[in-house]
Amino acid sequence: MKDCVFCKIVAGEIPSAKVYEDGEIVVFKDIAPLAKVHLLCVPKEHYARLSELNGERKRVLADAAEKIASLAPSWGLGEGYRLVVNQGESAGQTVPHLHIHILGGETLGWEK
Ligand code: AMP
Ligand code: ZN
Repeated sequence: MKDCVFCKIVAGEIPSAKVYEDGEIVVFKDIAPLAKVHLLCVPKEHYARLSELNGERKRVLADAAEKIASLAPSWGLGEGYRLVVNQGESAGQTVPHLHIHILGGETLGWEK
């Protein structure tokens, strides 16, 4: 999708620090980390909201969860990590391309 920063990262049109990529997802370092390890897991297909899920998107997300779980130790997240999906403005979603924040590498506080 034109003018979407994550579509541009997926297409390689702007640089990112990728830690994993396959045909369906890319995982890269957040440019403004909120924890010692802060990664973003992004489906390559552009859509903004969980309300737009369909069968194939659900499968890609379920597979992404499995990949995150198996790769987490290699990303320095062996002691635990947090997944966050912001949905909509009031939740602080700034990029309208669905993404999973992966946070860890330290003991995390819990604030809303
Ligand atoms: P959200 O606020 O949930 O939409 O998350 C968007 C995230 O994308 C923020 O944590 C930003 O720091 C991050 N971000 C925005 N642009 C880039 C970029 N070019 N490379 C890496 N992370 C980015
Ligand atoms: Zn996009």
